[in-house]
Amino acid sequence: MPKSDLVLLALDNPDILPLFERALAAASYQVAIARDRAALDKILQETSPALLIISDVFKEGSGIDISAALLERMPTLPILLFVTHELPSTTKAALRVGISDTLNPPLRIDDIMRSVENSLKRAQCIGDWTRREVKRTTASLEKRVNELQKLETIFNHIEDGVIILGKDHRILLLNPAVRKAFALGQSDIAGKNILDVIEHPALDSLLNSASANLHQYHEIGFEDGRVFNAQCAPIPDIGLAITMQEITYLKRIDQMKSDFVHAVSHDLRSPLTAILGYVELLDRVGPLNDQQREFVRRVRVSVHNITALVNDLLDLGRIEGGFGGQKEIVRLDGILNYTLDNLNNQILGKKQHIHVELPPNIPSLRGDPIHLRQMLDNLIGNSIKYTPDGGEIQVRVEVNEGQVILRVSDSGPGIPPADQPHIFEKFYRASNVVDNVQGSGLGLAIVKSIVDNYEGRIWVDSVLGHGATFTVVLPAYRPEVMETRPA
Ligand code: ADP
Repeated sequence: MPKSDLVLLALDNPDILPLFERALAAASYQVAIARDRAALDKILQETSPALLIISDVFKEGSGIDISAALLERMPTLPILLFVTHELPSTTKAALRVGISDTLNPPLRIDDIMRSVENSLKRAQCIGDWTRREVKRTTASLEKRVNELQKLETIFNHIEDGVIILGKDHRILLLNPAVRKAFALGQSDIAGKNILDVIEHPALDSLLNSASANLHQYHEIGFEDGRVFNAQCAPIPDIGLAITMQEITYLKRIDQMKSDFVHAVSHDLRSPLTAILGYVELLDRVGPLNDQQREFVRRVRVSVHNITALVNDLLDLGRIEGGFGGQKEIVRLDGILNYTLDNLNNQILGKKQHIHVELPPNIPSLRGDPIHLRQMLDNLIGNSIKYTPDGGEIQVRVEVNEGQVILRVSDSGPGIPPADQPHIFEKFYRASNVVDNVQGSGLGLAIVKSIVDNYEGRIWVDSVLGHGATFTVVLPAYRPEVMETRPA
């Protein structure tokens, strides 16, 4: 401890002051003396004493109260209280306000110096600890700030647009990719409602779908031909995250591919019709032997398969290209009964049992009846096709919060978990499909396109070997909402 430390004596008792002065001077401490409150405040303002020694009665005031007030401002200042009349309550009160130690008469120089040294040592320890803590906290704060800066840099350099919205769709964060996409410049938009800042119908419907928990992928198109795929996901306790990925080049490639497939499929149809026509004529121009008849049968089956594939491709092209058909108010139960009538022969042929559950008063849907029939044909047709003879098929419709929920379940082979995420892709067939079950892998892609066009959702639940359940959720027709939307 360097002995040049300054000790401030706030003592007004002429009998003991010289004793303290002498003891401290002998130990080479600097000493300052305050004989009243004003002098005490002045010295504390002008100097930084290492220790304050104050008597319990200081100029008719209470040394403990003065100490309490000082410790509020200077919590690390060690204070020694000289107690003129020792009482347990005084010692307790002194410790409660944070006084380091008390000195009681009879005073001896040794006692004074031990108490002074101890208080200074303790203050030194507390000082060291405080400095270490400040250093540690500062370092961890610096680390946090660095991490935040890194995150900010990453956020600002992400090529995809990212918007984070808080309550009431107020903007919390928005990266430069979004500013560029919507030409927002550098305007200050934090805290504003996103729809006041960005006026785009697709963004509006994306947020509407998010709040209605509907399909949450939307394409945001611009007049200059740019297209973004926008998705919305809830962030717990914060709000929503919208991400936007530019897909202009994918759209172009997809369009070229669709045009190509459409042209090829269209051109394939006429020769196929011709082949089928001539095959039908063969046995009319002369008797065929059994082998020739079998060959003709095989040609016919193959031509039918190719024709089905071409028709699927043309359907998919039409649906993906947007709706050609008119949207009208349709009743799902009517279309479902029609589909079931058409598929009845197949169900009887495989001796399967079908169970249909339709609640009364299913709300109508707004759409093209042909598309809805294609959707049901494919889903129920698949259940019949993949479920072995004698199996069970269940079709259930439920209505929940303005949504119509259709479930098609079967007791068939199910779909391996690894295949489930891909079965809605074009030409994808699961790995457990057996050879004699024909298919192009386009049916579910058609169903998915239709469901997407209706702003609905579709998914499959399946345990391998224990059947599959396809669930489709479609928004029910609500004239007040839907009539305002573009067709
Ligand atoms: P496909 O013409 O092959 O039936 P889909 O697109 O309709 O094509 O279906 C894709 C794949 O999903 C099928 O090949 C099959 O592996 C699987 N799948 C579809 N429905 C079922 C079902 N009900 N049970 C088991 N697997 C199914």
